[in-house]
Amino acid sequence: MSETWTVLKVLQWTTEYFFQKGLDQPRSDAEVLLAHALNLERIQLYLRHDQPLSESELARYREMIRRRASREPTQYITGKQEFWSLEFEVGPSVLVPRPETEVLVERVLEAGTADGARVLDVGTGSGAIAVALARERPAWTIVATDVSLKALLTARKNIERHGVSDRVFLVAGRLLGFMAPERAGFDLIVSNPPYVASKDLPKLPPEVRDHEPLTALEGGGAEGAGTLFAILEQAPRYLKPGGHVFVEFGSDQKDVLVRWMEAAGGYEAFEVFEDYAGLPRILHARSKR
Ligand code: SAM
Ligand code: GLN
Repeated sequence: MSETWTVLKVLQWTTEYFFQKGLDQPRSDAEVLLAHALNLERIQLYLRHDQPLSESELARYREMIRRRASREPTQYITGKQEFWSLEFEVGPSVLVPRPETEVLVERVLEAGTADGARVLDVGTGSGAIAVALARERPAWTIVATDVSLKALLTARKNIERHGVSDRVFLVAGRLLGFMAPERAGFDLIVSNPPYVASKDLPKLPPEVRDHEPLTALEGGGAEGAGTLFAILEQAPRYLKPGGHVFVEFGSDQKDVLVRWMEAAGGYEAFEVFEDYAGLPRILHARSKR
């Protein structure tokens, strides 16, 4: 006799299975994946608790459960992540945009930058920061770079999907070196660069460590701040006088960054902001006038 797997029964079974596998949010993951397998919004599942799944729906869902149980991020399985209330396509060649990066976007928007500003997003990944800024500031022109061509392919899809491809220009390149500094003259440079210390990589959750791209995570140097320092070192020459830099950093890097900034030439002032969890996360600096 074959069992009937209803939506509710499937959710209960998967929640228990994910819990035993040690996942943080077993019920939520089960719902997100089942909704994806059934081509529904998550909320629609509640109205269909008694609906039986067909063989092909079950097969599709089983494959997703298998991937999630091996710690693949839910977002790579569904291919999407919400950021700044917009849906972004994501896949294994880009970092899944994080909530703390929305704080970075908020701070940039508060900077009071001129209407027709020229903005640079270094290491754009999925394009999350560049797209959010372009949507909020229709008069801004944004150059978004990445060393990863595969990441840029994903960024392009997101830029087109959100209708900002006329104002966001994607460039392959390392740090700021893709452009001659004397031709740059940006009003604002923003970056969420890789900043994880190599020694901390093994401590990351398996979702991040084993599935997200290493190029997006590992920041160089003992403290992982190598890429951050490189951006902060180059930025003043690429900015107009009094231009802004905003970078996201690791919550344990505040002291090393503050010490570095106090010794740096090129800047007239800097400040540090916290993320939603109350951890130091964002550095804002202004280049000398
Ligand atoms: N901006 C996206 C976000 O906030 O979700 C992605 C951030 S991810 C932490 C860092 C990105 O920087 C990755 O896409 C990576 O490929 C890129 N990257 C790493 N090293 C770089 C470099 N030297 N120059 C430019 N981009 C770099
Ligand atoms: N916030 C990421 C993490 O989960 C790191 C991202 C980065 O290096 N910029 O560890």
